[in-house]
Amino acid sequence: MASTDSLTVPDAPDFTDALLTLPASGLTAPVRERLAACARAADTSGEPDREAVALLRDSGMLGLALPYEYGGTGDDAQELNTAVEQVAQVNASAAIMLFQHYAVSRRVLEHGSPALCRRLLPRLARGDWLAASAWSETGAGANKKRLSTTARRTPDGGWVLDGAKSFTTSAGLADVYLVLAQTEEPAADSGADTGYGSAGQTFFLVTADTPGLEPDTSLRLTGMRGSATGFVSVHDCHVPDANRLGPVGAAASIIAGVRDSGASLGAVSVGLAQAALDLAHEHAERRGLTAQQAVRHQLVDLATEVEAARAVVERAGRRSAADPGVTTLHSKLFASSAAERVVSAVERMLGSAGYVASHDINRYDRDARAVALMGPTNDLCKELVSLTWNR
Ligand SMILES: Cc1cc2nc3c(=O)[nH]c(=O)nc-3n(C[C@H](O)[C@H](O)[C@H](O)COP(=O)(O)OP(=O)(O)OC[C@H]3O[C@@H](n4cnc5c(N)ncnc54)[C@H](O)[C@@H]3O)c2cc1C
Repeated sequence: MASTDSLTVPDAPDFTDALLTLPASGLTAPVRERLAACARAADTSGEPDREAVALLRDSGMLGLALPYEYGGTGDDAQELNTAVEQVAQVNASAAIMLFQHYAVSRRVLEHGSPALCRRLLPRLARGDWLAASAWSETGAGANKKRLSTTARRTPDGGWVLDGAKSFTTSAGLADVYLVLAQTEEPAADSGADTGYGSAGQTFFLVTADTPGLEPDTSLRLTGMRGSATGFVSVHDCHVPDANRLGPVGAAASIIAGVRDSGASLGAVSVGLAQAALDLAHEHAERRGLTAQQAVRHQLVDLATEVEAARAVVERAGRRSAADPGVTTLHSKLFASSAAERVVSAVERMLGSAGYVASHDINRYDRDARAVALMGPTNDLCKELVSLTWNR
């Protein structure tokens, strides 16, 4: 949807747009059903779930992360986590696209120049534009320390980007990408290890219509198959300095601040775990298995896991802990592991019904596994928590 007028100021936002069809109690039943149906279709086809994105645009959910002044609804991190959880209950691929959109919206709000905010945020709030994060690369995985994507200054003060990103969610669907690039070589002694990213890296917002930007969704994922997680290459891609996000070389400190926001990918896992638990209840009731104490107690154990995961994600969203960033890391670690445990237990509880390939539980299993691999990976989360012990 990005158009060639992407550098012009859009019309003033219509605030009522974003006051939305989303009821306070969550997704409407028809939207839930349509999101669930397109999750099944995309899981089979492996094609980007365009219908889910259209539903997210129409629902007004894309505007939750932004304040009223830009046409959003000013939801806090706890409310965003709840929104992501609700979408994940029916369509985890859509939930990670939504999560990335919120993350980029917030980073622009926090670090964008006033002109960049005026230009981008009303579009992101209205859902005219979907945002994506293009940080990972094939050769720069979990800790993003050896980026091959570079950004060089041009004589007119702009930048030219070259490189290739991998595992970008919403590739080819997004209208704007937050691209992480190396703007200078990090010095050998580039200071304290932030655990993620390095000195000399800078963020740029690159619109989908920029010549040289090419998405490629040929990557065939095991799970999150509707999420359009693929490659995005930038070749001789000219980007104005006005599209730089934050100071030159300061991306690592922006990244370090992300977890302080309280937005947790653990919310995706809570949604998946809740969906699996609901399947177990339905199955047990349909088969009369709740008459068995052993089955009832197993359902209670799983419900306890889901409650605990939701509680730590909510605590991350409230940002009430002494170190909210550490709580966000704990929330992702715990909720993603809990979801894998719950889904795996429910697979066994469903018996042979769950062994049918088209059963939703198999999609939940593959989707749940992805969250631990998403950035920061669970291994890196542990590393980031332990780094705080030396402060
Ligand atoms: C479904 C999905 C969606 C994604 N969406 C996006 C996106 O939108 N944008 C984006 O930029 N990226 C995205 N990613 C990539 C993700 O953010 C991870 O950062 C990236 O996959 C990690 O790179 P790698 O798997 O190549 O890890 P590698 O660096 O190859 O690491 C391999 C393993 O070693 C572990 N490891 C690495 N370093 C350490 C360390 N220091 N200590 C302990 N363990 C370590 C890792 O945890 C991992 O398990 C997505 C990934 C998935 C699966």
